[in-house]
Amino acid sequence: MRWLIHLQYSRVLLGAALAVAVPYGASAGVQVSSSPWGRTNEGTVEIYKLTNAHGVEARFITYGATLVSLTAPDRSGKLANIVLGFDSLEKYVAPGVPYYGATVGRYANRIAKARFTLDGKTYQLEANDGPNTLHGGKRGFDKRIWKAEAIPAAQGGGVRMTLVSADGEGGYPGEVTAQVLYKLDDQDNLEIDYHATSTAPTPINLANHAYFNLTGDPSIPVLDHLVTINADRFTPVDATLIPSGELRPVAGTPFDFRTAHTIGSRIGADDEQLRLGRGYDHNWVLNKTGSGMTLAATVTEPKSGRSLEVRTTQPGVQFYTGNFMDGKPSGVGTVFAYRTGMCFETQHFPDSPNHPAFPSTILRPGQVYSQKTTLSLRVVK
Ligand code: BGC
Repeated sequence: MRWLIHLQYSRVLLGAALAVAVPYGASAGVQVSSSPWGRTNEGTVEIYKLTNAHGVEARFITYGATLVSLTAPDRSGKLANIVLGFDSLEKYVAPGVPYYGATVGRYANRIAKARFTLDGKTYQLEANDGPNTLHGGKRGFDKRIWKAEAIPAAQGGGVRMTLVSADGEGGYPGEVTAQVLYKLDDQDNLEIDYHATSTAPTPINLANHAYFNLTGDPSIPVLDHLVTINADRFTPVDATLIPSGELRPVAGTPFDFRTAHTIGSRIGADDEQLRLGRGYDHNWVLNKTGSGMTLAATVTEPKSGRSLEVRTTQPGVQFYTGNFMDGKPSGVGTVFAYRTGMCFETQHFPDSPNHPAFPSTILRPGQVYSQKTTLSLRVVK
């Protein structure tokens, strides 16, 4: 306890006064440090850095509980950043920045016509994606400053972020308290653990929106990455990317990733669903065995040998290949080019509040929402 107080005290002295990163724990294991990173109207944004015994490093900012960077070794041990992110806060707060590394909520993905009915009452949300609401609306969890608390090395090494979302925010009922715990280990696994409670029944669906590029070079499109997705079915969509409700078999379609395929090999196929999605931008129905963790997807970049395994407790994964990335300069510099990142958003199915046959996303008072996803960094020879 005494050393913790001492370190907290040092952090106040050094962290605030000199704005340098100060470790929270000096023992072996994953090291955690933090420093101020910038300010918005809402307050100060901090950056947290987790570093494991191999030098693998994950950085998070409290704006949007966002994963800013994650380094991974290639087959010669060379570390490179494999998620798209920015070097300054102003690039994250710029209008229209598409959720790079952010925690999306209160409802990740789309809700049709920005509307749902719950317990006989209809709720009107904010339409921010044509007629639909996307990733929580105009000011979702990705645009808020979360409170952060370091988990010192002795307790595993991580950072816990907490956000309170007011009753009625974005049109959603109930005050929600959401928590995201990021933990790195010495086996190169990044665990993301989510919890939430609500004061009134409300839909909830939290996901991380990292765009991965395992080449380590964000200018290279991801089309040569080899992907497997552990799913026999997916949820086909309409022109506004809302599921029809059908769980369609992937067999015989370009959506069959049960064995490894490069993204580029079929993304241009003559297929109605690929046309509607402008590429892959769909939810796969994971082959689950019980309520525990399931392998959702594996992605490998053949040249570097970098590989990523995604496991989750969630029933679905939105595999999105950056089809809306346009590389047009924004007010704060150049953004990433077409299809230079891909997302594996582990989540409940899109528009579940309007599909009673989909697994429920309704959180009621007294219940605790929880989801866990792990990102495992691996190397193939
Ligand atoms: C959606 C895409 C969207 C992207 C960024 C993904 O979750 O499925 O359609 O363009 O988020 O907003």
